[in-house]
Amino acid sequence: MMRQLTGLPIDDDLVVRILFFCPDFSTLQAFILTSKAIHQVYQRYPKSIVRAVAYNVAGPALPQALRLVRYKLKHAPDAEAPLDEESDSDDPPGESGQKDPLTKEETKALLRVARTAGRLEHIFSWMEKDKTRKHALSPEESWRFRRAIYRVMLYCEIFGPERAYEHPDESPFFAQEDDEVDIDDIRALRRKRKVFLDAFNALELLELHSVLIFLESLLERIHALYHGPSYTGNEHKEIVSMGPDVVLECYDAFSLMPTYTKPWNLDNLHPEAIADFFSGPLELIFDDRKVKQPERQYQPILDEVFGEDDQCLYLFFTSFSSDNTDNPGQHCKQLGGMSLWGSSNWERLNISIRRQGLLELVKGRLIYNQAHMMQIRDFLTCPDYPKLFNELFDLKLPEYADWDKDDWLCMACLKKFFGDHFHIWFKELKRLEGNPEPSEDCWYGYNCRTQTHKLAHATKLNHLCEPTRGD
Ligand SMILES: [Zn+2]
Ligand SMILES: [Zn+2]
Repeated sequence: MMRQLTGLPIDDDLVVRILFFCPDFSTLQAFILTSKAIHQVYQRYPKSIVRAVAYNVAGPALPQALRLVRYKLKHAPDAEAPLDEESDSDDPPGESGQKDPLTKEETKALLRVARTAGRLEHIFSWMEKDKTRKHALSPEESWRFRRAIYRVMLYCEIFGPERAYEHPDESPFFAQEDDEVDIDDIRALRRKRKVFLDAFNALELLELHSVLIFLESLLERIHALYHGPSYTGNEHKEIVSMGPDVVLECYDAFSLMPTYTKPWNLDNLHPEAIADFFSGPLELIFDDRKVKQPERQYQPILDEVFGEDDQCLYLFFTSFSSDNTDNPGQHCKQLGGMSLWGSSNWERLNISIRRQGLLELVKGRLIYNQAHMMQIRDFLTCPDYPKLFNELFDLKLPEYADWDKDDWLCMACLKKFFGDHFHIWFKELKRLEGNPEPSEDCWYGYNCRTQTHKLAHATKLNHLCEPTRGD
């Protein structure tokens, strides 16, 4: 029956079904433009087709994503003034009141927020669910992660520093002196934050809390790249207030620089605006409702974790070191599970090994060798880790014969492996570059002192070798 309307060789109902399955809006648009007949079918059900594709883009967390997108568009600096009194309300409409048809701007914004959520989900899954990347989050886990991340995004959108910057008149906190801050304004803002979060049930809040821990842990890792793990400040908790997309920018840049370059960076904000940004209201609500924290921090999101009980295969402290015999193998076991390293996650070493951290592991005095120091330092500041470790494994020493790229290693073992092989790899690199080391070895090998202050000596003898005499 329906076929006669458009003259397509298949039922219109089937065309509608196919349009429903378009993975994103550009595919939908391309498909509609392929024929007038398909366009006619689309014209009959535009709202439900766009809604179905929106679901494909954002998944079951579509209500949360739409709520976020509509709030964002309404409060964009160039947004048109609202037409009626009701839409002028500052409160974002709830997640259930999102049945209106989507506008073109909304579909575009939806794609953007879904992309951020999807990338963060991928990183989360790789770090916390399965370090081999064979298992992604299950549909239920993904739904929990995404609805939590959209809610975090919305909270940051409403209460975060960007909005305070764009609407300084509404915020008591932007670039004000201490004595100008009104304590009542602070209280009012904190109350609003609590009211916003109080609308969610305990499970949803625990999911949100898990996502926050994850975002903070990413920022902590990035911070540790430059400052080492000893830093115990709260900077990462404050930066989370800038929103998940800024956290992702930092992750991509391996640096906190993106947070300093925003005009609404935290330095311009009164500290009270951001203090306890999430933790303040969340702790109050958890206390009020007597919510128990889960045993494992990502339990509210993840039903299943793969490789949680993996252990380092080589127990470096028993195999290689005599000064830790009181505690055989303890170190490796303690740092097992998701913090182990193999070829499937070497790529993530770039946010897990401190900048310059590899230099400390290079044998002897090679990093001061007059002939090689610049090249070694340049290379090791931010290497291509998968390529480097693949090549190191190809050159492994006989005592490492049974070590395999796919074995799990703790960081201590991985570093030991690197330190024992880097100079061998570097010698090979020089050969491949057509600039091989001299054939005669210096007696003192990589430990030689003279290589550090005499260029002539450093270039005349090979130092990328084991010492045959003490120094
Ligand atoms: Zn180990
Ligand atoms: Zn020498």
